[in-house]
Amino acid sequence: MKKIIVAGAGHGGIVAAMYLAQAGFDVTVYEAKQEADLGYAQYDSVHLDGFELAGIPVPEDYKVKRTGITFMIPGTDLPPLKQGVSDDTYNVEIDRKALYRWLIGPAKEAGVCFRFGCAVKAPIMLGSRVAGLTTDEGDVYADLVIDAAGIYSPVRSQLPEALGIQNTITSTDIMRTYRAFYTRNMEAGEPAYKYIVSLLPSPFCGIVWAITHETEVDILIASMAGELTDELIEEKTALLKASNPVIGEFIRGGRVADIPVRQPLSMLVADGYAAVGDSAFMTIPLKGSGVGHAMRAGKILADTVIADENGFYTRESLWGYQVKFFEEMGNGSMLMAVIKNELPFITQEDIEYFFRENIISSELLEAFGSEAKFTKILASIKFKELREKARKIVGRPYVRGVLVRGGKNITRCIMAQGNLKEKYETKSANKWNASYNALFDSILEEALKENTKEPAEEAEAKNDTEA
Ligand SMILES: Cc1cc2nc3c(=O)[nH]c(=O)nc-3n(C[C@H](O)[C@H](O)[C@H](O)COP(=O)(O)OP(=O)(O)OC[C@H]3O[C@@H](n4cnc5c(N)ncnc54)[C@H](O)[C@@H]3O)c2cc1C
Repeated sequence: MKKIIVAGAGHGGIVAAMYLAQAGFDVTVYEAKQEADLGYAQYDSVHLDGFELAGIPVPEDYKVKRTGITFMIPGTDLPPLKQGVSDDTYNVEIDRKALYRWLIGPAKEAGVCFRFGCAVKAPIMLGSRVAGLTTDEGDVYADLVIDAAGIYSPVRSQLPEALGIQNTITSTDIMRTYRAFYTRNMEAGEPAYKYIVSLLPSPFCGIVWAITHETEVDILIASMAGELTDELIEEKTALLKASNPVIGEFIRGGRVADIPVRQPLSMLVADGYAAVGDSAFMTIPLKGSGVGHAMRAGKILADTVIADENGFYTRESLWGYQVKFFEEMGNGSMLMAVIKNELPFITQEDIEYFFRENIISSELLEAFGSEAKFTKILASIKFKELREKARKIVGRPYVRGVLVRGGKNITRCIMAQGNLKEKYETKSANKWNASYNALFDSILEEALKENTKEPAEEAEAKNDTEA
């Protein structure tokens, strides 16, 4: 019987483990935490298709109609902008502990063995093949290692460079978040909007939200600009409280955690190895949602492994997973990552401009909720309209950057996607890998350079664009 070991009980890893055990594989998951400590006191949203496309039953008790987000700009008289949401769209709003129970129960029934409280320390290499894991319980060898240990995976981060799997991440790759729950101050009455997100520009660069539930208020403070200090958390909590009188007293939460908000890992597989979920940066870059993608990728991975009748689990035989992930999710995430790379430079005036000029519309906001719609909107006539607006405002560097440079980089991304060939060949796989990483390095570099231009260079660039 082929042996598969999973590092970390990440959502995609559990889904893959369940399908593989059902197919007769010997599967063990090594998870650092105790089972009771998995998840946290937090409700998260997962699109229904995250469950449906992963073949996991939708937890009906947690299915709710989607609430449109209302965006606000604190300290201005600009009217709030409400995200459009079609009537028939539902989400699963589920607390993480319940979600873990929902996934782990069937995985155990399928025969997956969970070693809770057992941390993975590093991959074991035999030449260029990942042959096992060093864990708290000693070394374990397997035919395939699935890496589902999250953003700071000790497996991915210690793979030899020769495998071509990017193992470091930079501060621009993450969004640092603080999430807490407060009592709902009933005396404040019904809030005008239930789900309020305020955009906070550079230098904080991020968002804060207040979501009013029946008896409590969920708050989030998220920054894309590095440290989220206690002082910043205090300051932003006070800001939220001042504009949302429904926020009462602290109840629970208060955890600081990082979410990947970058393009997916360019290379998901190596001989004996496959990464899934946050360890491969599969979150949607503009939102940080990653549960749905992780579960769907877990299913694709299991299908690919089951289809490998030789049981060698090489980069070549796992290539189908790489290709299908990008086709179904990764290509859309690449485009969103282009836009995301511009966000750290946004100013208060630019945000106001976006709202005032209707560059951010209710429809565009809806598109951000769905990759399929996002891609469609980019390809639609609306994009031309945005470009027209950009022409009128060439003196506004940030907006010009996003609309003109963003458009160019999206085209570069679409062209790069052509480098990922369906049939595996070492040469073309290496070309894809190198060109993908070089593309995003250059996009980030360019955004940095353009957005930190001196005024004289700025005037020159403006003349160039006008010409
Ligand atoms: C505040 C916050 C809010 C979020 N909200 C949403 C949301 O609403 N919707 C959504 O879809 N996504 C949301 N996300 C993102 C989501 O949590 C992840 O994208 C998703 O969990 C997929 O990640 P994963 O399962 O691969 O990894 P993780 O959830 O990070 O799981 C990795 C597992 O590996 C274990 N592990 C780590 N290191 C080791 C080790 N050395 N040895 C053994 N085990 C190890 C960890 O204990 C953990 O159990 C949110 C994230 C945060 C931080």
